[in-house]
Amino acid sequence: MGIFQPREQIQAMSGYHSPQVDVPIRLNTNESPFPPPQGWVKRLSRVAEEIQWNRYPDRSASELRRIIASRHSVSAENVFVANGSNEVLQTILLTYGGAGRTVATFEPTYQMYAQIARVTGAQVVIGERRADFTLDALEIERVMQRHSPAVSFLCNPNNPTGLVEPRENLETLLENATGIVVADEAYAEFSDWSALDMVTENRALAVTRTFSKTLSMAALRVGYVIAPQWMIADLEIAALPYHLDSFKQGATVAALEYTSEMEERVQLIKNERTRISQSLQSMGVTVWPSGANFILFRPETRDAKDVWNQLLDAGILVRDCSSWARLEGCLRVTVGTEPENSAFLNAMTHILGA
Ligand code: PMP
Repeated sequence: MGIFQPREQIQAMSGYHSPQVDVPIRLNTNESPFPPPQGWVKRLSRVAEEIQWNRYPDRSASELRRIIASRHSVSAENVFVANGSNEVLQTILLTYGGAGRTVATFEPTYQMYAQIARVTGAQVVIGERRADFTLDALEIERVMQRHSPAVSFLCNPNNPTGLVEPRENLETLLENATGIVVADEAYAEFSDWSALDMVTENRALAVTRTFSKTLSMAALRVGYVIAPQWMIADLEIAALPYHLDSFKQGATVAALEYTSEMEERVQLIKNERTRISQSLQSMGVTVWPSGANFILFRPETRDAKDVWNQLLDAGILVRDCSSWARLEGCLRVTVGTEPENSAFLNAMTHILGA
């Protein structure tokens, strides 16, 4: 085989697919349905004007890290920022995963853990959730004892199931883990607890967050991790120099002045989440309890792919999880604006009634 071929591990993979179809109502990628505040958008031209474009950015993103740190009452040395939390996950895996090491996930969960782990050369070991997608502490112990993974991921709330992980499960994971534990909190603002207060210097715990969901800035690509200082120092060795551009640093610093405005919308999303769950249940659809801004559901009486196609015909795009392992028959809908959710529920009533 020629050297123009990708590495063996890459050849065996198919990549991460999330189709971006141009439809009026997009409820497939768990973004915020609300644009960021207009005040922030107007500030961006000033942010651009103030940049010395011929110079490399502040490599340590000091101002941005300081402001994120104060938001969570930690020190700037506890913060690492990257281009979306996906890049944070990649940096963690480049630092602590890699060839000859194992990475643990508890399936079904966010697909990028296994994807990035494999791309960066690690072997993936899988812990299984129960049929109702809750996680048994004994399974956590089994995976830790049998495989001693270098990195273990726990997504809370979990994507794509929406389930909130009990705090005891993270405690069990931390007690049994020999390597790094990552609590991915991409959706934490919609949930009722966070592991941020569990981050200390003597625990190998990293908590990741994103600007893509509650903060309405998926287009900006910013995510960060709060972790012990020794871990942040390790991540900085693996990260590329100047990986965060000056515009992004400035735009994110400006965005942090608007967080309370954006957090106010969390309650709206939660109310809509309740409305969608209850309506779907009243249609005889199986719905998993969600602590996030999306809902996993199974139509039961109808083929999920047919339902997905009929929703698409009605101009509504949801996530088709039905071909994913362990998620047979399941679809996932992101909570949108009130009119979007009503359109989705009307379409579902029509489809299931037909
Ligand atoms: N973690 C989880 C659980 C997610 O669902 C997502 C987004 N789909 C991410 C991380 C990545 O988010 P981003 O890179 O936009 O910060």
